[in-house]
This record gives sequence, structure tokens and C-alpha cells, in this order.
Amino acid sequence: MALKKIPAPPARVDLKKEDTVKVIAGRDKGKTGRVLRVDRETGRVLVEHVMMVKRHTRPNPAKQIKGGIAERESPISVSNIMIVCPGCNKAVRVAHRVDAVAGGKTRRARVCRKCGHLLDTK
Ligand SMILES: [Zn+2]
Repeated sequence: MALKKIPAPPARVDLKKEDTVKVIAGRDKGKTGRVLRVDRETGRVLVEHVMMVKRHTRPNPAKQIKGGIAERESPISVSNIMIVCPGCNKAVRVAHRVDAVAGGKTRRARVCRKCGHLLDTK
């Protein structure tokens, strides 16, 4: 197989672990899942039950690894997924709300661009 060209990662990845996302393009289009891992270097995220691939593993008794075919997630590009807003239950883009905190500092919170619902739980 020819070497895949690695696209430049987006300037900013507005996704975090535990976010619920919807796949908007690619093989698993339409699926939703929980974000398991975010890789800001490559602009890819691991989403639960999305982009499942079969891994053929050789048994290794010393490491307690059973052989056979295991299904695992593989990373998907952030451009192919969107965050699902808990407020309006749609796949939405992310806006940032700047909140003033004590000491004259500000804090950016992620909000839904459609309904303004807060996307950050903490
Ligand atoms: Zn919303």
C-alpha cells in the first residue's frame, strides 16, 4: 500500500475526552460515540465504537495476550466529526464564551453555536 499523506492538523481542536461526537463523513457516517482520546498533534481522535478495525494478534503467553482477531477503534480525523450538543441534541460547531473570573482574568468556555448551551461540564 502506498504511503498515506498526513494532512496538517487543524490550528485548534475543540474536542475533549468524554465529549459525545457524531461522525459526519467517512465509513462510519451517522454514528455517535464518546471521545476516548484526543491527539492534537495529528488532529485525530479515538471515538468509542467508531472506525473499528480488526487486529490480528499472535498469542504471547508471557504477556497474557491471547491470539486471534480483536476489534479495536482507530483514530478518526476531527474534520470528520462534530460535537453533539446536550442542549439541542444536534451535531454543532463550537463557539467560545469568555467568562470573567476573579482577579480580572478571563476563562474561555465552550458553548453550542446553535443554542448557546454550555458544552464543558467542569
Ligand atoms: Zn445546542
